[in-house]
Amino acid sequence: MMPEEKILLVEDEAPIRDGLKEKLESEGYRVATAETVADAIRALDGAPDLVVLDRRLPDGEGLDVMRHAREAGSRCGFVVLSARGMPEDRVEGLEDGADDYVTKPFHLRELLARVRAVLARRGEGEGSTGRDTAFGEYALDLGTRSLRKGRREIALTRLEFELLHYFLRNPSRAVSRNELLDRVWGYDRYPTTRTVDFHVLSLRKKIETKGAKPKHILTVPGVGYRFEV
Ligand code: CA
Repeated sequence: MMPEEKILLVEDEAPIRDGLKEKLESEGYRVATAETVADAIRALDGAPDLVVLDRRLPDGEGLDVMRHAREAGSRCGFVVLSARGMPEDRVEGLEDGADDYVTKPFHLRELLARVRAVLARRGEGEGSTGRDTAFGEYALDLGTRSLRKGRREIALTRLEFELLHYFLRNPSRAVSRNELLDRVWGYDRYPTTRTVDFHVLSLRKKIETKGAKPKHILTVPGVGYRFEV
């Protein structure tokens, strides 16, 4: 029997905090809350298994809570809530210690799925060094840059990995081919938008069910793609 898992919820916006707390408690988690960086750092003494961390807090940057915890040697999970429109380089910085992140506004269901996945991985993966990001039945391991489905490992090319990683950082949002070219391929190369389609196709072959409509990488006509967790 697993002990009841403890979640520290750090969010200053009362409606989001209250709604999330209620939902997490109804799922059987024990939930403590904090509204500021200072409160959250104090609350780490309660040894949470996972922290749901908003980045914009009244007294500073939420990621400081994570840095503080990591410096203190804590291995608790972090699911970071990031507001859309924050500078991209800071979003990239999340890879340095967050187990997963969710862009606001998010669906409660999506956040819960990520919380569950992070806690499950912590439960089974004590001692493993990889960090991964779950979607559907898959997990992208950021440490080994590989894709797993259960125990099965699916090989990815470098570009497939980069593309999938970008999609995972930008779920439920229409992403244009040009954005993908800029963000995944970079300015210094000159592929065409057909290159994007080609790599999306090869990625779909690996993560979508053959003959069925794509569940994860959806086509947005006239724009590009939308990734769904
Ligand atoms: Ca906030």
